[in-house]
Amino acid sequence: MNIVAMNQESPAPGVVFAQLFRGLVVRWPHLPMSPASRAPAAEPLPALQQEIARLAALPQVRSAMEWFRDQEAQFTRWQLEVARIAAPPFGEQARSDWLAEQFAALGLGCIEQDSLGNVFGSQAAVGASCVSISAHLDTVFPAGTSMDARQQGRKLHGPSVSDNSAGVTAVLALAAAVVRFGLLQGNSTPTSLLFIGNVGEEGEGDLRGMRNIFTDSQWKDKITASVVIDGAGTDTIVAEALGSRRFEVTLRGPGGHSWSDFGAPNPIVALARAIHLFSQTRVSSSPKTTFNIGVIHGGTSVNSIPQSASMRVDIRSTSAFEIERLELELRSAVEHATEEEEIRSANDTSLRSAELEAEILAIGNRPAGELPPNACILQIARAVDAYLGNTAKVQRASTDANIPISLGREAIAIGAGGAGGGAHTLHEWFDPAGRELGLRRILLIVLALAGTVK
Ligand SMILES: [Zn+2]
Repeated sequence: MNIVAMNQESPAPGVVFAQLFRGLVVRWPHLPMSPASRAPAAEPLPALQQEIARLAALPQVRSAMEWFRDQEAQFTRWQLEVARIAAPPFGEQARSDWLAEQFAALGLGCIEQDSLGNVFGSQAAVGASCVSISAHLDTVFPAGTSMDARQQGRKLHGPSVSDNSAGVTAVLALAAAVVRFGLLQGNSTPTSLLFIGNVGEEGEGDLRGMRNIFTDSQWKDKITASVVIDGAGTDTIVAEALGSRRFEVTLRGPGGHSWSDFGAPNPIVALARAIHLFSQTRVSSSPKTTFNIGVIHGGTSVNSIPQSASMRVDIRSTSAFEIERLELELRSAVEHATEEEEIRSANDTSLRSAELEAEILAIGNRPAGELPPNACILQIARAVDAYLGNTAKVQRASTDANIPISLGREAIAIGAGGAGGGAHTLHEWFDPAGRELGLRRILLIVLALAGTVK
């Protein structure tokens, strides 16, 4: 986070609050509260909350916040359109192209797509720094799923209509407001807003879109704060990144006939030993750590000694150290189990080679991490919630924000407003009632983070 460094000479009002986090003494301008403000009247207002109120009272910001209320027809059109485009993991290109077209139609001056299909839009070329507002484009639904998003009464129904067509719609709504109301005009700092539709958040996508942005893109060092929009609602702030690591363990042996090759090392027996050993691993409740063996495969027929057996293992923790420890436990369990089966086999028969081969393939890696409680982005989000009279809990989840948070960068994941349910099912729904609260919340957070409005 580098807000102050951008403008230490003569801070614009929008960046003044950032200095409070660094203990600098700031002469606070007394500004009237917006008549529309629902901030508690209790005095004195915390300085940051007062700064948010000042931001919200700026004419162009007020206009944008009111405009959100009248645009539901457009928001619904965007949301249904994007939800009807198939976007299975590794098959997001059609949505990427659609989003780039919408960015162009809104008048964003700089639109780019990287080789993975991440789409970037900004009003002008990003200078030294930017705040990103992103939503993932991919869905959990495999190719061939009927993406039949539809409106029934007020509600929208269909796969991905909330997760994450609501998020994509919010990104478009924010971009539209920024362009329409000139929210970044006259900014005295080089910070801009970067709108992103990214690939690869769900399942086997393994956060590949966000990972690429933060490790191998022109923006990786320029993004000072990230606001990830995922799903519906306004009642959470994800500031703790739940980490996970997933493995496919495959054991292979010579196989054989159940009668004539009896005694040869059996990969299914070795896998069962490995499961038995690993499942006895102790895990801590704080930091919470879990594991699961979710899938097993193997064997040919009841009268064959199998040539292979495999399992899929999911390890989760809020602590990167605990994830590392469980991975070592898993590797050790597989090694011991294989050795035991080889020894048993060698003792039983001299007819067959006693070799088993073990392969442990990483099939997922979502890094863990958490923001410090005094993180600037968290304080801003809380101040915005206090100003808007919104109640939200800080939560732990696995989202695109895992990547920046694990790198020690400021990031949160929040909802797009409205309400939603049935995520990752064909019965997913979204109710836009109250969507404008979510959009106002996002707008105030990103403007405060950018510190560019005055
Ligand atoms: Zn999602």
